[in-house]
Amino acid sequence: MSSENADAVSGQGEPVWDVVVVGAGPAGASAAYAAAVAGRRVLLLEKAELPRYKTCGGGIIGPSRDALPPGFELPLKDRVHAVTFSMNGRLTRTRRSRRMLFGLINRPEFDASLVEHAEKAGAVLRTGATVSRVEQHGPAVPDRRTVAVVLADGETVLARAVVGADGSASRIGAHVGVRMDQVDLGLEAEIPVPATVAEDWAGRVLIDWGPMPGSYGWVFPKGDVLTVGVISARGEGAATKRYLEDFIARLGLAGFEPAVSSGHLTRCRADDSPLSRGRVLVCGDAAGLLEPWTREGISFALRSGR
Ligand SMILES: Cc1cc2nc3c(=O)[nH]c(=O)nc-3n(C[C@H](O)[C@H](O)[C@H](O)COP(=O)(O)OP(=O)(O)OC[C@H]3O[C@@H](n4cnc5c(N)ncnc54)[C@H](O)[C@@H]3O)c2cc1C
Repeated sequence: MSSENADAVSGQGEPVWDVVVVGAGPAGASAAYAAAVAGRRVLLLEKAELPRYKTCGGGIIGPSRDALPPGFELPLKDRVHAVTFSMNGRLTRTRRSRRMLFGLINRPEFDASLVEHAEKAGAVLRTGATVSRVEQHGPAVPDRRTVAVVLADGETVLARAVVGADGSASRIGAHVGVRMDQVDLGLEAEIPVPATVAEDWAGRVLIDWGPMPGSYGWVFPKGDVLTVGVISARGEGAATKRYLEDFIARLGLAGFEPAVSSGHLTRCRADDSPLSRGRVLVCGDAAGLLEPWTREGISFALRSGR
């Protein structure tokens, strides 16, 4: 990391950033981009190495597309022109549209590209940097205009403002006091398929109303890989896992070995939950900003980050 972009706190020799962003998903990359374009000195801290995998369907709706940085080229894997609906595998109907309904991307590629835009705008990226906590008072904080960001290895970074974009298990959200109303478990498999199967799905998604209240499943085609997932209220882990297995089997995809199988909790904020505390604010999943029915979150991450 270069600290040339940061001021020195007088008498202490420590660099102080205008904005430290924690987490380099769509929310963090979007926040870092917006602050850098506004002329701020920005440090973007990410615990993973990039590109990193994120359990996600990668569905890009209009508001997501409209919130991208100017000139950003969406790395679309498919364009959706048809939706097949079913109810737990029955009553199947397909609706087609001449207009593209939404686009599909792979998150590692999409997220890495967003981070590149933030870097080109002047943000400094540091990967492999896990944030443990933030402090707004106390010995690590030189003055009232500064926040201390403490990393897992004990290093402290100073900032005028901190943006918590560290996802649905956010530490910064806990500091701000974000309260969640709804917690769901999403399970997903990335399934490589032969060309004949891929052709059958090209340009078409499947949405299946699931057997548990509020649950649903999806198939999102991305060329020679199908992203197949289900989501349901947390606390029904075994039933959710069974739903995904049944769903995959019903679709005739059980014979193909998933390249990735993963799970992730999604959290939706309570209406009166805070979004900031002092000089620390949260965005995206860290703030619980997610559409509670579809659990669409990329558009919320991009817009709230900005
Ligand atoms: C199964 C499933 C399917 C979904 N499908 C869709 C979909 O099709 N379309 C859609 O719009 N949304 C979808 N979503 C929601 C979407 O994935 C999220 O809303 C979106 O990723 C939120 O972006 P974010 O930047 O807030 O968080 P994230 O993408 O989770 O990024 C957070 C980043 O912070 C980093 N981080 C975490 N903790 C720390 C720390 N302590 N220090 C440093 N870095 C840290 C993480 O490594 C990560 O890179 C889906 C979610 C799930 C679970």
